[in-house]
Amino acid sequence: MQNPGTATPETVTPESAPPERFPAQDRFADGAQYIAGRPAKGTSGRTHAVVDPATGEEVYTYDLAGADDVDAAVAAAREAFPAWSAATPGERSDALHRFAAVIAERAEEFARAESLQCGKPLKLTREFDVPGTIDNTAFFAGAARHLQGQSAGEYSGDHTSYVRREPIGVVGSIAPWNYPLQMAAWKILPAIAAGNTIVLKPAELTPLTSLLFAQAATDAGIPDGVVNIVTGTGKEAGEHLVGHPDVAMTSFTGSTAVGRRVAEIATGTVKRIHLELGGKAPFVVFDDADLEAAVHGAVAGALINTGQDCTAATRAYVQRPLYEAFVERTAALMESVRLGDPFAPGTDLGPLISHVQRDRVAGFVDRARAYARVVTGGAAPKGALENGAYYLPTLVADAAQDSEIVQSELFGPVLVVLPFDSDDEGIRLANDTPYGLAASAWSRDVYRANRATREIKAGCVWVNDHIPIISEMPHGGYKASGFGKDMSAYSFDEYTQIKHVMFDNTAVARKDWHRTIFGDR
Ligand code: NAD
Repeated sequence: MQNPGTATPETVTPESAPPERFPAQDRFADGAQYIAGRPAKGTSGRTHAVVDPATGEEVYTYDLAGADDVDAAVAAAREAFPAWSAATPGERSDALHRFAAVIAERAEEFARAESLQCGKPLKLTREFDVPGTIDNTAFFAGAARHLQGQSAGEYSGDHTSYVRREPIGVVGSIAPWNYPLQMAAWKILPAIAAGNTIVLKPAELTPLTSLLFAQAATDAGIPDGVVNIVTGTGKEAGEHLVGHPDVAMTSFTGSTAVGRRVAEIATGTVKRIHLELGGKAPFVVFDDADLEAAVHGAVAGALINTGQDCTAATRAYVQRPLYEAFVERTAALMESVRLGDPFAPGTDLGPLISHVQRDRVAGFVDRARAYARVVTGGAAPKGALENGAYYLPTLVADAAQDSEIVQSELFGPVLVVLPFDSDDEGIRLANDTPYGLAASAWSRDVYRANRATREIKAGCVWVNDHIPIISEMPHGGYKASGFGKDMSAYSFDEYTQIKHVMFDNTAVARKDWHRTIFGDR
């Protein structure tokens, strides 16, 4: 094991395989807005540069959206709503099946664009982001035909009641930069499958794959105006979209701090709100766990997407008998992970999204040196990767439960490990942050693991694994991680409203219940 800041992991440099990057400037020469089925330039008068975080080079400069562009996108979505909401579930399903096929044909283009703007290794975008999005699209194509509700019936005796599950209208969605393609998919697919139309604002740093996604929707035959993209700042385009009177619902994925602001604005205009916010997932290892499995799970679960994953393993609580061995083996395994150029074949781990984010993460680790042990990592790598926003996989041990590195969301390749004694203590510590998005429990004792799944307050609890998601199951938070569900049939609860329809069956003028008004006359 190496000292903090001096680890020199194997690196994969661009020279080992000249990377073929995505030609963003040419591909999106017509602008980074997508309104009514066409690309357009933003009219805010300000520009923004997409930076390749692996090199620090600007790869695409575009005109940011202003309020006028948001208005135009909302108007297009409003115009498309009557016909799209009146399409049969079968017609919407067919369109989504074609949409999935178009994305599949363009899978490599999606993967390269996502790798370029986020710094994700191609291995990750090809094997996770893009196939996950295709699967999600296919799932919602099927789910569009299976909207559920209570069965019709004569619940009062004198009436027939049934529910209609109806779309809400124009949805305004805001997405973060960590999984731009998947977040666009998670927002857009259930909304349009249920008959809504949508305006999505991706993060300023990562507009490329949302634009490809909207273009693919058009090419699949989804009518103009059903899917619109506005790429502007949160303050300007984002707040205007959330407060827009013609937007019936806001769905937001991002940090808890911004989620609070979004909720305030949306509440002012009495909109439905769906918030997917930050996380600080605990990873609880009981003393009967398979240590090797837990160590591999911790490293993969903490480093996925360079730790910029709202469900990433961030706090490992390890029962005392396994603690030292866990720390030692996790650090060793972290040091074997190969940092490198996202487009080079052997790369395991890319840079963070930006130098600002890298420096923010480094700040947390540097401050932690005063009260904890940085076991490995804790620095940016030197040499060939120096210009990128890289940070070494980092393990921090012996921090106090109330320290900032245990309590705050870092969003970087950093795992903190703490010991615990009793099962009660492990579960209590797991629940002891404001967040509740995801968690995992590691044990070979079914009763222990089952207790953890019941008592940990999080929207997802894995047993003996950490990270996998599937289209059929819901994703969403407890506590300060927000509310509402993405993916799965449960997401239709967010993107539809329920109407009770009640028919009188008596055909009499004076109904029995009228006696409350007319007395016994
Ligand atoms: P962020 O909150 O800074 O930004 C998210 C989006 O909000 C961006 O598009 C941004 O432009 C916009 N925004 C910023 N200020 C705004 C405002 N005042 N009004 C309206 N919109 C505004 O988050 P980020 O840094 O892009 O992403 C990282 C965060 O996202 C982390 O906290 C992570 O946990 C969270 N996240 C959560 C989930 C989930 O499913 N719960 C998934 C992915 C990411």
